[in-house]
Amino acid sequence: MNAHPEGCRLNVAHQIAAVTGQTTAAVGNASAPPLAHEALAGDTVPHNVLVIGASTGYGLASRITAAWGYHARTLGVFFERPPDENKSATAGYYNTFAFDAFARRDGLFAAHLNADAFSTECKREAMAIIRRELAPVDLIVYSLASPKRTDPRSGVVYSSTLKPIRKPYSSRTIELDSEKVIDVTLPPANDKEIADTIAVMGGDDWRLWIEALASEGLLAPGVRTVAYSYIGPELTWPIYRDGTIGRAKQDLDQTAAVLDRMLSPKYEGHAIVAVNKAVVTQASAAIPVVPLYLSLLSKVMRAKGLEESPVDQMRRLFADFLTASAGLQNVDEHGRIRLDDREMRSDVQAEVAALWPQVTTENLRTLSDFGVFQREFRNLFGFEVDAVDYDLPVETDLEL
Ligand code: NAD
Repeated sequence: MNAHPEGCRLNVAHQIAAVTGQTTAAVGNASAPPLAHEALAGDTVPHNVLVIGASTGYGLASRITAAWGYHARTLGVFFERPPDENKSATAGYYNTFAFDAFARRDGLFAAHLNADAFSTECKREAMAIIRRELAPVDLIVYSLASPKRTDPRSGVVYSSTLKPIRKPYSSRTIELDSEKVIDVTLPPANDKEIADTIAVMGGDDWRLWIEALASEGLLAPGVRTVAYSYIGPELTWPIYRDGTIGRAKQDLDQTAAVLDRMLSPKYEGHAIVAVNKAVVTQASAAIPVVPLYLSLLSKVMRAKGLEESPVDQMRRLFADFLTASAGLQNVDEHGRIRLDDREMRSDVQAEVAALWPQVTTENLRTLSDFGVFQREFRNLFGFEVDAVDYDLPVETDLEL
C-alpha cells in the first residue's frame, strides 16, 4: 500500500555498491573512491542507454549497471505514483528519486520520464529527450511488466491474465495473507484472455519503440536492444511457460527475430531476449504458485552458493553478453541469452522438485526460504531494510 523512501534509497545504494565494489555507506559520498569501471574500452560499451521499465526489478538493476558499471548516460521510463497529502509515493518513484540523487553526486547524466510507456505521447517525449541529450542511443532495455495496456492506435484497453491454457491447473501455493500452503485450481484462459495478455506483455510495444527510434534517426551503429523473459522449470510450466504469460513471451521471441532482421543490416545492430532467473519483484510475486517456487528455489540456490540478485544478474548480462566481443554468439538454440543457467541446473531443479510435495503450512519456514521471500518482498517497498531506523520520521513528499 505504501513505500518507505529511506528504505528505497538504501536498496538503490546496495545495488550501486554491488556494481562499483564500494561499501553501501560510501555510495554517493563525495569522499568515496572513484567509480569502478567494469569495462571502459571496446566498441560495445554502452554510452547512451534507454531503459523502459526503469524504476524497479530488472529494469532498475539494468539502469544501475549501465550507469555505474559503464558510465552510461541513461533515460529511464517508468509509470509510478508520486506522493500526495494522503499517500506515500510508490517504491519505484522513491527508487528513482534516490537514483537521481546518487547520479548527480557521481556526475552521471540521468533523465527520467514518468509516463505510460505504451502511449504515443510518452514515446514522443522520450524521443525529444534522446535527441537533446542521448543521441544516438546504443542500448535499449525493454523491461516492462504491466497488468494492462491501452493500444495507442485503437484506444482499446487490454488486461493481462495469469492463467493456464486449455485445461485447469491445480497446484500448491502459498496464500500470502494467511501464510498457509493451500491447493489452488486455476481455470483455463479463454481465447480473448490469451490474445489480450499477448497484447500487453508480448512484443508489440517493444517493436513500436524501436521503430520510432529508427524512424527518428536516433539509433547508433551497433545498437543493441534486449527484452527480458522467463522460462522456469516444468513444475511451473502450466501457469508460466505454457500459460497466457508464456504465449506473450513467445511473441516477444518472435519480435526479437523481426527486430534483429531490421537492425542487423542497417546498423549492424541486434535485438535479443535474455531469459532471466526468477527473483522476487512486484511482478513475479503476483503470479500464482511462484512465491512457493521462489521460496524453495532460494533455499536450494543459497545452500549451493548460486543465489543471485537482480543486479548480480544484470552485471553478468552486461559483462558476459552485451559488452563482450563474442557475447551475443553465446546463446541458446532459439537465439536467447540464458541468465537462468544456474536456476535451471539439473541438481538445483531436482532438489526443488523433491521438496515441492513435502511442503506443508507447518514446515513451510524450515523446508523453504519463505521468511527470506517475505523479507525480500517487504524490502521491495523499502521495509525491513537493514540500517533503516523505522522509528524516525521520514519525509515522504519528495519531488522528482
Ligand atoms: P517490476 O514490476 O519490478 O518492474 C516493472 C517496471 O515496469 C517498473 O519500472 C514499472 O514502473 C514499469 N511499468 C509498468 N507499466 C508501465 C507503463 N505503462 N509505462 C511505463 N512503465 C511501466 O517487474 P520485473 O519483475 O523487473 O519485470 C521486468 C521484466 O523482466 C518483465 O518482462 C518480466 O517478465 C521479466 N522477468 C522477470 C523475472 C522475475 O522473476 N521477476 C524473471 C525473468 C524475467
